[in-house]
Amino acid sequence: MKPLLDPYDRPINSLRISLTQRCNFNCFFCHQEGEHNSLGELTPEEIETVVSVASELGIKNIKLTGGEPLLREDLVEIVQRISPYVSEVSMTTNASRLADQACSLKEAGLKRVNVSLHTLNDVTFNKITGQRYENTVTEGIKAAKECGLEPVKLNMVVMKGINSDEIPELIEYSKETGTVLQLIEFQELENGVEYYEKFHYDLEPVEMMLEAKSKEIVVRDLHRRKVYYLMDGARVEVVRPMHNSSFCAYCTRLRLTSDGSLKPCLMRDDNHVSLISLIREGEPRERLIDAFREAVAHREPFWRE
Ligand code: SAM
Ligand code: SF4
Repeated sequence: MKPLLDPYDRPINSLRISLTQRCNFNCFFCHQEGEHNSLGELTPEEIETVVSVASELGIKNIKLTGGEPLLREDLVEIVQRISPYVSEVSMTTNASRLADQACSLKEAGLKRVNVSLHTLNDVTFNKITGQRYENTVTEGIKAAKECGLEPVKLNMVVMKGINSDEIPELIEYSKETGTVLQLIEFQELENGVEYYEKFHYDLEPVEMMLEAKSKEIVVRDLHRRKVYYLMDGARVEVVRPMHNSSFCAYCTRLRLTSDGSLKPCLMRDDNHVSLISLIREGEPRERLIDAFREAVAHREPFWRE
């Protein structure tokens, strides 16, 4: 089968699946993976069908996200069903319910997790998520490590005047816990639009600071993200999408919305291709393959030089 290549010669090797728009947190800046007004969720069987077609087309990595994926009561079944088709299933989570489920998810085939941890301060945690900080997230991180979900990455969305002064503390915490810190630029999308001017924080000076403290810097294929191996043993990855043409030039990802549409770009919602309608109408597999090819044909870099 011809692998997926978009009109800008970008190969597609990963699929980011939103499992639900439901969430038990209420982060004020949430971009909801660029989705709103969801029309419902896919069943585990439907998700398996999507992943089996994706794998036939050369997609090797699946990232589960949401909303909060741990709110899906059938999450273990979903992971069990899809993991045989691909090299890696990973998940991005707020970890509030991870402590209880980390080992079952690992057994089901989950390889690794990204845990959103924007702060270690309970007042700031409440300000960001609307929830009380009760160690559930850090317990989730501990459980993920103990159950062998490796590497555990910590997603810190950096916000001016909210948590930007906590970067050194989070680096220290990641070192102590044997996790990788990901510093993520605040994105102007969905709920993030309203707060962008106020809270967007430029990560360029942070990258210069990291460079000075690094013994090695590795540039990943995906988005040309830099990973800094600090002299003190910490590992920090920086995700800087805004106005970044290299980020888009090296984007190899397709997305699936929680209600079953292929989404060619996080930043756009005017070029989705419905997959679930085809699955529910019992259309043959070739039609699903065509839908993937159509979505990939719609892909174009959002940020350009
Ligand atoms: N609920 C899960 C979580 O919070 O990890 C998964 C879904 S969440 C939408 C996926 C990731 O996007 C999280 O790491 C979250 O912090 C990040 N995110 C949400 N809104 C953002 C924004 N406006 N800018 C940058 N990152 C954002
Ligand atoms: Fe929920 Fe994640 Fe959005 Fe926060 S960022 S509201 S945890 S989906």
